[in-house]
Amino acid sequence: MFPKKQKQAAGADAGPSGSCKRGRQDAQAAPGAESLAEVVEQARRRAAPSVREFKFNKKRVRLLSQESCLQDGALGILYWMSRDQRVQDNWAFLYAQRLALKQQLPLHVCFCLVPKFLEATIRHFGFLLKGLREVAEECGELGIPFHLLQGYAKDVLPGFVTRHGIGGVVTDFSPLRVPLQWVEDVKERLPQDVPLVQVDAHNIVPCWVASSKQEYGARTIRPKIHAQLPEFLTEFPPVVQHPFPAAAPAQPIDWDACYASLEVDRTVSEVKWAAPGTAAGLAVLQAFVTRRLPGYSEYRNNPNKAALSNLSPWFHFGQVSVQRAVLEVRKSRDRHRESVDSFVEEAVIRRELADNFCFYNKSYDQLEGAHDWARDTLRLHARDKREYLYDLQQLEEGKTHDQLWNAAQIQMVREGKMHGFLRMYWAKKILEWTRSPEDALRFAIYLNDRFELDGRDPNGYVGCMWSICGIHDQGWAERNVFGKIRYMNYAGCKRKFNVGQFEHKYRP
Ligand SMILES: Cc1cc2nc3c(=O)[nH]c(=O)nc-3n(C[C@H](O)[C@H](O)[C@H](O)COP(=O)(O)OP(=O)(O)OC[C@H]3O[C@@H](n4cnc5c(N)ncnc54)[C@H](O)[C@@H]3O)c2cc1C
Repeated sequence: MFPKKQKQAAGADAGPSGSCKRGRQDAQAAPGAESLAEVVEQARRRAAPSVREFKFNKKRVRLLSQESCLQDGALGILYWMSRDQRVQDNWAFLYAQRLALKQQLPLHVCFCLVPKFLEATIRHFGFLLKGLREVAEECGELGIPFHLLQGYAKDVLPGFVTRHGIGGVVTDFSPLRVPLQWVEDVKERLPQDVPLVQVDAHNIVPCWVASSKQEYGARTIRPKIHAQLPEFLTEFPPVVQHPFPAAAPAQPIDWDACYASLEVDRTVSEVKWAAPGTAAGLAVLQAFVTRRLPGYSEYRNNPNKAALSNLSPWFHFGQVSVQRAVLEVRKSRDRHRESVDSFVEEAVIRRELADNFCFYNKSYDQLEGAHDWARDTLRLHARDKREYLYDLQQLEEGKTHDQLWNAAQIQMVREGKMHGFLRMYWAKKILEWTRSPEDALRFAIYLNDRFELDGRDPNGYVGCMWSICGIHDQGWAERNVFGKIRYMNYAGCKRKFNVGQFEHKYRP
């Protein structure tokens, strides 16, 4: 039923500052112990033999086209993969296979590779392409052709649909404006009789189900999500060997040529500690659950400790399902209740709150997206004298007077992942040291999207907006430059962790 042999990736769990050798050790299961990949494969099979026999929750799906019925004579179903770049544990892929199985049709998967995307560099595209290569292999093993279409979806997808006689298209969901526009453009250009549906394969509670409006903060979305977790936080059935073969195989993919064709900045190098792909991501999850989770609640705000999951790159590219991570982490709740609960708070509540904000607030990355109180206070203090002023280049090069800030910047530039606690300090100092809140937000988002492997994500826009524009936060005592926006300082960091140790590790 599910014959794929699982790959364990070397170096998968070195962590941003670990060595590859250590990573290899972390990624290996103890002798005799099952790997997480094997455990989850069995769990899927226990859920159902295939998605056809599984009770699929249709609230995960929304119809985007006028047409809702498959036409007679269709020759296949297409999953247009975009945000969720994995085969298993993917509700969009599963829904597409369900449709294909029910109609006894071949199933195709495609990904539209654009030559550039926002501030993404070769660091990001390298991770993406290597992950997709694994997806293509896995699809091949399951008898599902994987097509890498080069160009914008609006230009390449409608023609593909017509050529292959595709009867229905399923895609996944991102709340960000560029991918939302891609979907709009495709909707307009698809043949009228081809239904297009979208499945939220990224969030546990689908974004449009969790809430129908922009939530004020974690305290308002938390009860809504927790109330719906029993319904949505369920085991996945497997994507199985597809029994209805396509008339022709997919075109072979020249991955090296794709890599060479990208029009992206190649000066931001790929990172060694994070091996791309689902197999590597699951190994990181396994190492987190067995080694770091016990200390998560106590040490997650200490940048000198290895306590975080480090999963954000794999979550961002959809190579690992957050739902899978939460299902695995929750198994330790009897022993590590506080850590499990804090991980759920971050990975589910805070992360889904970020998707909620970007989905319902069209100005999610601009000052206009902030609440009135925050905009007013920032404007009132826009002309306050700044003790230090830096331009974008000085910030990018980590050349400020603050060694902790410079160290955090260096960690991000070198490793593609700044520690979560420092991201808040880092963005707030940009507000303090630039000419205007608008500049601060622009610089923070630019640097975040350019260097963080998990950048260009709702979490990133919300992280910057929280730090600089007070979204999902409240007003605090008024002070220079910040107004009522929450302030953070060096002395506060010194009280939390050994600042000198971190500065020493990431010195220029
Ligand atoms: C200025 C700023 C910029 C940020 N930029 C990004 C970004 O570009 N991409 C990104 O994924 N996260 C971003 N975050 C949120 C958070 O810092 C990272 O998700 C986290 O550090 C990733 O590391 P981890 O997976 O080891 O975290 P863990 O602590 O192990 O958390 C597990 C998962 O929970 C989610 N999560 C954790 N913290 C938050 C949070 N504060 N808000 C929303 N979700 C959260 C993430 O999906 C994360 O992978 C940013 C935060 C700030 C303040």
